[in-house]
Amino acid sequence: MPASQTSEKLSFTSTNESAPAVDLREALLTGQAPDGGLYMPSRFPRLSKDELESFRGKPYHEIAADVIGRFATGIIDPALLAELCGDAYNFPVPLEQVFDRVYVMRLDRGPTASFKDFAARMMARLISQFLREDRRELTILTATSGDTGSAVASAFHGLPGIRVVVLFPIGEVSTRQRKQMTTLGGNITAIAVDGKFDDCQAMVKRAFGDADLRRIPLSSANSINIGRLIPQSVYYFHAWSRLTNGDEPIVICTPSGNFGNMMGAVFAREMGMPVKRIVVPVNENDEIPRFLATETYATVEPSVACLSNAMNVGNPSNLARLAAIYGGKIDAKGVTHRAPDLKALRRDIFSTSISDGRTRSTIVSAWKKHKLLLEPHGAVGWAGFEDYIAQEPLNGLPAVVVETAHPAKFPDEIERNLGFTPEVPDSLSALESLPEKCERMRADYDAFKEYLKNNF
Ligand SMILES: *Cc1c(COP(=O)(O)O)cnc(C)c1O
Repeated sequence: MPASQTSEKLSFTSTNESAPAVDLREALLTGQAPDGGLYMPSRFPRLSKDELESFRGKPYHEIAADVIGRFATGIIDPALLAELCGDAYNFPVPLEQVFDRVYVMRLDRGPTASFKDFAARMMARLISQFLREDRRELTILTATSGDTGSAVASAFHGLPGIRVVVLFPIGEVSTRQRKQMTTLGGNITAIAVDGKFDDCQAMVKRAFGDADLRRIPLSSANSINIGRLIPQSVYYFHAWSRLTNGDEPIVICTPSGNFGNMMGAVFAREMGMPVKRIVVPVNENDEIPRFLATETYATVEPSVACLSNAMNVGNPSNLARLAAIYGGKIDAKGVTHRAPDLKALRRDIFSTSISDGRTRSTIVSAWKKHKLLLEPHGAVGWAGFEDYIAQEPLNGLPAVVVETAHPAKFPDEIERNLGFTPEVPDSLSALESLPEKCERMRADYDAFKEYLKNNF
């Protein structure tokens, strides 16, 4: 066993700092900490230079087993974890060269064609394993602005002992995204809410804290669950291992909404991976770039409905975690109890807001200049990356820009801007003919609560 891997169980503590520490298993199964905070590892496992170097020759699923295993010592047998990783990560993770040492990493080859498959497929397998060991059942509530719900629903579909309830804002998801949630049936219930993503998220959060619902064992699978973040650090190690030499740092650019994906990059850096900068472009929900610029955090309420709909978040949950890494304490409402080290945050992170107009023009320019096909989320990422290199040239360093969804999930926007429709992967085309089933609900907590009480 490498020196940095001890047999000691890693503990997880709440960002609100007043809940007992738990292990990974407990953190995964409960989702949110009882004090309303989010779980964070009490320390980050560090990888040595040699351990990082060893990733260069490994296939993706082996890097995953190594990285995830460091958070799961004493929780799951390494051989079983390796098997689960092999099963979860059975699709490619392409790095597409754009120019020089700048690459786009396409995280859209999983069954629901979004990066959320990476975390959802791992969490589903781990949770299912834990439930089997405990002979327990669980209901997973998840709010989605598009892709979480489908990835989670797909990952848990058909697993015994688990029911999934997905809430989505009816007017903010594409037809394909909706169909990915409403055509599964079985243990998956889809609820279309007449409201915004933030309404859906608030309904779910309230249900977790509601004493009247205690008898239903609830868990969350959206980006508040620490089980989402750990697998999301793996693809940054993958990119680094393929694109760098020696201990060269990499620039990472991740289009962001709830900041779970970019936290994967922060985790990788905390574990010792050399990172030059983490660039986090957002759409017109610009609370984070404003926070970095003005040092005052203010949520965007209501959130702005942009083309990159999975990033329409006016108060990202994971800000609490980002703040915690920088010594701060920010609660779920966005209230600052202790300011994070803003100087350090600015040194490590570059954030910028991209308008819908710029998103569209970037879909066009990326295609014309580089034959790079991007959907709106990836276009926000690419535009933000262009802003970044205009201010801080790469000087020969490698960079990876993350494309978070498959262009075929947004055929109208591609057709309108580029004049053709992207090729549809088999995973999505299979949905067209399936019947849809879903509940329709007002953005009203009491209606949701009644529904849960009557049906679960
Ligand atoms: C969820 C999602 C995002 C935003 O990711 P966060 O982790 O919430 O920042 C970006 N793009 C797509 C396609 C998504 O589904």
